[in-house]
Amino acid sequence: MKTVGINGYGTIGKRVADAVTAQDDMKIVGVTKRTPNFEAKRAVELGYDIYMSSPDRENLFEEADIPVKGTIDDLYDKVDIVVDCTPGGIGVKNMESYKKAGVKGIFQGGEKHGKIGKSFNSFANFNDSVGEDYVRVVSCNTTGLCRTLNPIKELCGIKKVRAVMVRRGADPGQVNKGPINSIVPNPPTVPSHHGPDVQTVMYGLNITTMAILVPTTLMHQHNLMVELESDVTIDDVIDTFEKTPRVLLVDASRGLGSTAEIMEFAKDLGRPRGDLFEIAVWRESLNIVNNELYYMQAVHQESDVVPENVDAIRAMLELETNPEKSIARTNKNMDIIK
Ligand code: NAD
Repeated sequence: MKTVGINGYGTIGKRVADAVTAQDDMKIVGVTKRTPNFEAKRAVELGYDIYMSSPDRENLFEEADIPVKGTIDDLYDKVDIVVDCTPGGIGVKNMESYKKAGVKGIFQGGEKHGKIGKSFNSFANFNDSVGEDYVRVVSCNTTGLCRTLNPIKELCGIKKVRAVMVRRGADPGQVNKGPINSIVPNPPTVPSHHGPDVQTVMYGLNITTMAILVPTTLMHQHNLMVELESDVTIDDVIDTFEKTPRVLLVDASRGLGSTAEIMEFAKDLGRPRGDLFEIAVWRESLNIVNNELYYMQAVHQESDVVPENVDAIRAMLELETNPEKSIARTNKNMDIIK
């Protein structure tokens, strides 16, 4: 059984910890915490040992009566790989300590590709991370784009992609971020960083992206225009999406016409935290005009990258070298529909 540590037990870290725990070929040894908040208390209740990322703050944990197992260096001694889920820009600073301790490291989309050197998406380039030491799982938006662009590319080839992303202003638990009452071009320059980020895993794809922030916390929403290389029908595209793991076709006509209703659907599925790991594509939005495919999709930013982190662990630790098998195993253990 391979051993995993989580550095940074926040939005992404706590979900990756649970997803790893659900697997049968890897286990969590411990998670790091800086603050003895409700997440630290809940981590202990879930059976995760806590290690101090800032050992000088141990007295805060003592005062809060939250048991601590050791320091982050103690955690490094016990694991094969650390999944770094600290806020963007901090992960790269931790890389040196991983190298010194001789542990592998996975980083998140908030880190720059160039600083880590290799980016990962389960569907686009799994094999390039097999046996690697340091890999970055691309961001939630990039994961969403790759999940649906990769099968289209395999179906009929892609000449050019243009995509406009309507991004959530903040995660539901973030009280200090906005916008509250505004639409913000973010970035205000074109292209946004998302297109180049897709190219770090879908090499050579011709893609240009624009993005805006809106006052919602639930999901991102993407609008895609894809020039196809060869002729296909909408039925071919529907058939492809129906067969693609981690992609769900949803019907606006069946009450799933908004991100709010899709999140309600995820809660009804009984998903932990109401997560939707799959990318939801609105069936009604699919259209082909002059060999250009149009569609709209919704991305649950807090959870879509979580199964990808599990697959990245498997690739880097060479637990599995076949992407389809890893994706299927991760999905089965996480109760992902397909
Ligand atoms: P978060 O703020 O929810 O969680 C970060 C955690 O790291 C917190 O528990 C914080 O206390 C802890 N932390 C802060 N500094 C630390 C340090 N020096 N050492 C150890 N722990 C530290 O952040 P998040 O949303 O989970 O984002 C983590 C990474 O995942 C970022 O790179 C982000 O860009 C990426 N990401 C976030 C989302 C999202 O929508 N939230 C989606 C995909 C990827």
